[in-house]
Amino acid sequence: MRQKLVAGNWKMYGSRAMTRALVAGLAAEFADGAPCEIAVCPPFPFLEEACRAAGGTPVTVGAQDVSDRDEGAFTGQVSGAMLAEIGCRYAIVGHSERRSLNAEDDALVAAKFLAAQRHGLAPILCVGESLEEREADRTEEVVARQVRAVLAAAGIEAFARAVIAYEPIWAIGTGRTATPEQAQAVHAFIRGLLRAENANIADFVKVLYGGSVKAANAAEIFAMPDVDGGLVGGASLEVEGFASICRAAG
Ligand code: PEP
Repeated sequence: MRQKLVAGNWKMYGSRAMTRALVAGLAAEFADGAPCEIAVCPPFPFLEEACRAAGGTPVTVGAQDVSDRDEGAFTGQVSGAMLAEIGCRYAIVGHSERRSLNAEDDALVAAKFLAAQRHGLAPILCVGESLEEREADRTEEVVARQVRAVLAAAGIEAFARAVIAYEPIWAIGTGRTATPEQAQAVHAFIRGLLRAENANIADFVKVLYGGSVKAANAAEIFAMPDVDGGLVGGASLEVEGFASICRAAG
């Protein structure tokens, strides 16, 4: 039985005070035990504050990105070692906003996945198709390409220390959610790609759904057998709504 994970991707929102309040609020909500694993992924300047506030609580912390390099003259980049040193557990890699706005291709995403793991972070590998690709019936082709690029670079064993997030681009920040059946179909497909390499790891790896998850739709999506929680953007920015989503994963 896989324990569910609900991770909040704050994107470029928040402040130091909000970080402190949100993590403390979640810790108070779940002082008697969390219904699932909970992670918050604030912007880089607030990660250390989040790690401090999360200490001794059920909340864990992840970064929204990580450099593919370990050290050097890479202005503006943040290494996995730096994130691990301040107490991060996760690093999101391959979010569709970075793939499109920062021109990150499959090879760079795979390099970031490896870099995160070199420093003991668990990558949350985001994959997902555009609306145009879905309408052209290319969802499986796109998702398979994205997953296989990382499989080829890292090997199946690496997925025992990683999380996958299926995030259809047409559902991110749009208010339009995949139906539970649509999500389940792609999640099962992703697990099948891993099963072809190693059945035990395929059964172990968490596959999160992301794309306009909110308190009102989380339970029906999380009830699907291959959905192991969610990567939540907009609805992760306030305690009550995010806590309800976490409860839906219980
Ligand atoms: C995301 O950014 O990963 C995301 C799923 O955003 P939203 O929940 O706002 O659609």
